[in-house]
Amino acid sequence: METSKHAMTSGYSARVEAFRDEEYPMLKGSVYLDHAGTTPYPKSLMDSFVRDMTSNLYGNPHSGSSSSQLSTSRIEDIRLRVLQFFKADPADFDVVFVANATAGIRLVVETLRAAPDGFDYAYHQASHTSLVGVREEARNSLCLDDRQAEEWAAGHCPFETHADERPILFAYPAQSNMDGNRFPLGWSETIRRNTASGGNRTYTLLDAAAYVCSSPLDLSCAETAPDFTVLSFYKIFGFPDLGALIVRRQAEEVFNTTKYFGGGTVDMVVCLKEQWHAPKSQFLHERLEHGTLPIHNIIALDAAMDAHKRLFGSMMDVSNHTFFLHKRLDRGLRSLRHRNGKTVCTIYSPQSGLQDKHPAGGPVVAFNIRNSQHAWVSLAEFEKLATLKNFHIRTGGVCNPGGIASALGLQPWEMRQNFSSGFRCGTENDILAGKPTGVIRASLGAMSTISDVDTFVAFVAEFYQDLSLPPAVPLHTAQPSTRSDLRVHSMSIYPIKSCGHFQVPPGVDWEVRPEGLAWDREWCLVHQGTGQALSQKRYPKMALIRPTLDFGRGELRVMYAGEISPHLSQEISIPLSKNPSLFRLSTTLGSRSSRVCGEEILAQTYISTEINEFFSGKSMRHSKAHLQKHQLPLSAPMVTTSKLPGSFPGDRPPSPPDSDTERSSQQRRILLSNESPILAITLPSLDALNAEIRRSGNHKRVISPDVFRANIVIAPLSQATKTAIEPYVEDTWSSLQIGDNRHNFEMLGSCRRCHMVCINQETAEKSEEPFVTLSKTRRFDGKVFFGVHMCYSETGGDVMTAVTRKGRFPTLRVGDVVVPS
Ligand SMILES: *Cc1c(COP(=O)(O)O)cnc(C)c1O
Repeated sequence: METSKHAMTSGYSARVEAFRDEEYPMLKGSVYLDHAGTTPYPKSLMDSFVRDMTSNLYGNPHSGSSSSQLSTSRIEDIRLRVLQFFKADPADFDVVFVANATAGIRLVVETLRAAPDGFDYAYHQASHTSLVGVREEARNSLCLDDRQAEEWAAGHCPFETHADERPILFAYPAQSNMDGNRFPLGWSETIRRNTASGGNRTYTLLDAAAYVCSSPLDLSCAETAPDFTVLSFYKIFGFPDLGALIVRRQAEEVFNTTKYFGGGTVDMVVCLKEQWHAPKSQFLHERLEHGTLPIHNIIALDAAMDAHKRLFGSMMDVSNHTFFLHKRLDRGLRSLRHRNGKTVCTIYSPQSGLQDKHPAGGPVVAFNIRNSQHAWVSLAEFEKLATLKNFHIRTGGVCNPGGIASALGLQPWEMRQNFSSGFRCGTENDILAGKPTGVIRASLGAMSTISDVDTFVAFVAEFYQDLSLPPAVPLHTAQPSTRSDLRVHSMSIYPIKSCGHFQVPPGVDWEVRPEGLAWDREWCLVHQGTGQALSQKRYPKMALIRPTLDFGRGELRVMYAGEISPHLSQEISIPLSKNPSLFRLSTTLGSRSSRVCGEEILAQTYISTEINEFFSGKSMRHSKAHLQKHQLPLSAPMVTTSKLPGSFPGDRPPSPPDSDTERSSQQRRILLSNESPILAITLPSLDALNAEIRRSGNHKRVISPDVFRANIVIAPLSQATKTAIEPYVEDTWSSLQIGDNRHNFEMLGSCRRCHMVCINQETAEKSEEPFVTLSKTRRFDGKVFFGVHMCYSETGGDVMTAVTRKGRFPTLRVGDVVVPS
């Protein structure tokens, strides 16, 4: 039995392998492991939908024209087909088309809220956020764990019976979207039955959105079926964006309290002197589908179901296949151990294959990774590497607050504390107080193959399994010397955040301020819609925007080094003077708040169409970019232009403050460089990294220092002394003195890296190095580091303080002596 099923499913895998490249050209070279998010859509589905759309005209239903009639009859057929897909008899069930599962839930809530005494609500703790939110509309609500739900199913209703008619709604997922855990379909009936006798009518809502992606759902028995079943079709078929609310007809009367009516839901409406309307009465869906149906989406569903059947067979086939793959993934991840015997993956999903026939969970493995010292690996870090290695996989809280809390053992107070210490979905601080705040979720589907699973397990092993006894790279402990052969090898500034660099020419004295090198990150490009500063991380082509500072002409010249359409100009000049007529005037002195890395900043937006068209025209095809002159990265908005830290003429720096507190706040003031005023790297470290890359056989991937976007590159004076300076010694520096005047710089710690270092700054092309090698050799506490942050410290030498007191900032130049301490 087991072997024949195995043979069958590996046959399925081979079949999918054979059509994968053709059906999913957009996935070439990558591994898709986010079926719980959505499934990819096959090419043949899109082709047949386009054929249908281009050979037939579909009009708005409810009129006599042939195009309208065609829509009506196709939609009727598809509605029936949906019921048949779930073995639901149209005599017992009706399908209401909705935008997605969430919209289906809201339809039910809307009507229950309108009941004379409202409703009481209980939901299982594994519920998706969309089910949790229903509680805000209920009179009383309860979150139940497995045991409490079982007790209810056995006859103990958790609510007290009311004298009034207030109905109860119980909702739960057939399968958790967080860890794939499945819950008894039988609850739909037992819980409904067990409270009906108590007086208050209980309705059951089954969230089948995750379950139906990989399993057949059988509603053939109307007595035991849930009253309401919600799901999203895009999760099963990849397309169209459409969902369904399937209503058991015996529960239809609950919708009698619905008050609102929209176009298409009424037989007659009287306005003006009388207010009267007659709702459509034959089918429930006629009353609940307000306005014009998503005609083309519904019609696409037909093609989607055809393609799915053609490619994958029945949902039972999909279920067997994903069950088999799930077992392989589960075993693969569970078996990974560090050299010291500790497990690599902590898995939250129910173990697959314990009960051989009925999986306890769907094809989802939710887990976290620990290093050999048992410390958690940061999710953000994992995601960076997985993305670079072309895995599509979800990490984080995955919209399942109760499931996450119980899997990770987070108490409500801890979640609140995490929230108040700045944690939000999608932020980088994902290990708080030693506990992870989310999970890695690998989910499989109909188009997954054995090789997807094996590639992923091999990836986790390659990067996270520690087979060496001592740590791969011990932290440096070399004793720094006082005499130094180190020099400033080169200096760069990045006038426009996330764009190309401008190299400080040799022999030029460049001003250093507490917030960084002069003219560094004075401008940024912002998305016109969101006000967010754009970054190379998302728009690699920004590397091709090359600024030059021309003090002779008082201009910032910006050249675009990529390909552009012939009618656009390749270069633009922006005056360095702060000409007010160039900026947008608004109530806040021409400023508008923008966001850089989540921090609110104040920025002035250029109003010149020439300037703005230059930036929106070429580099960013998907977003309108705006050039802004940036002011202060302060969370409290500052509107006084006199305090600008920039180098614009007239913006004389404020005289150095006297009090210590003011001084330290000055030091922390930074421009748009995200983390620190100045970023430095050393060439010996770069050489070590390149040697490592070469060792792994990637000769062609040797990288240039540019990718680290440093302000100061430090190198030994001559090749001869090079060997005397150890790589990564900069990690141990606590301060630097640079130049003849020995300007003092305070080291602020190592620089954490993301996959932006993989963008070649010459070509804007992405590769996997150096991040992959850094992840193997420079990972500490689950984070990857290269280079050091530093800032100019006014408390340095006496000479220097005297200089700044005169209102001038110190300067650096290429070739200056660097003395670490
Ligand atoms: C995806 C999902 C939802 C939400 O679906 P939408 O399409 O976003 O409305 C709800 N519940 C579960 C279990 C899901 O997996």
